[in-house]
Amino acid sequence: MKGRVYLVGAGPGAPDLLTLRAADILRRADVVFHDALVHPETLALAARAEKVAVGKRSGRRSTAQKFINKRLVDAASRHATVVRLKGGDPMLFGRAQEEIDALRRASIDFEIVPGVTAATAAAAELGVSLTRRGLSRHVALVTPRAAQGERGNEWAAAVLAADTAVLYMGAGLAPAISAELIARGMSPDTPVALVENASLPGRRAVLGTLAELPALAQRAGGGPTTVLFGEVLKDAAVAEEIEGLLRRA
Ligand code: SAH
Repeated sequence: MKGRVYLVGAGPGAPDLLTLRAADILRRADVVFHDALVHPETLALAARAEKVAVGKRSGRRSTAQKFINKRLVDAASRHATVVRLKGGDPMLFGRAQEEIDALRRASIDFEIVPGVTAATAAAAELGVSLTRRGLSRHVALVTPRAAQGERGNEWAAAVLAADTAVLYMGAGLAPAISAELIARGMSPDTPVALVENASLPGRRAVLGTLAELPALAQRAGGGPTTVLFGEVLKDAAVAEEIEGLLRRA
């Protein structure tokens, strides 16, 4: 038996931000290997599937990637419909390529189902378009994280070059990020936003400047957080209003 493996994006958190295609595949799934942050209601759609948690929360122990690859390949020899359910979109900071390569090597059929990524979920919370006529024509999606032994990560250069930048997996490094960008010549007054738990009931957004970033990050509550940089975040009136709204929510 050779089943098909679906790499499915679960979206940023809210269960109703799942695509119809993803919901359909989950309903048919025999086994679901899922990230730690997937909402229980999303998992519940996979009513008949065996569910296996395989990681990934920074700072906590997670299943080694090679082992996940192997489990996907093995599962496809036993089941018709295998799902690898990932937070956000599987093709952004989700190590999807390693899984795709392993599936290709084993000649296993696979399909990717996109999801709403954290950057656009954060923009939605802020009510701020990441692109704007005359102000922002490029958006960089960046992570400062690099695994040991990887080549140097030029995340700072990418942030400096972009009109708007969205940083994944970086809120915990806020003091170093702020210092590095300012040392590289970015204005300390550059508007920044931190959006935590985008799309979820515990969502929070704080706004300020690059110089204030370490202090802003200290107010975060430990949920998944993206950091946004750029002039599009500048509209202070709107910003304060949104921050107030989110705090009251
Ligand atoms: N594939 C995912 C990203 C995985 S990396 C995607 O496309 O969104 C995990 C990082 O995504 C977190 O460290 C955080 O920076 C960001 N993130 C995920 N969910 C989030 C949420 N609900 N709100 C804010 N940031 C989130």
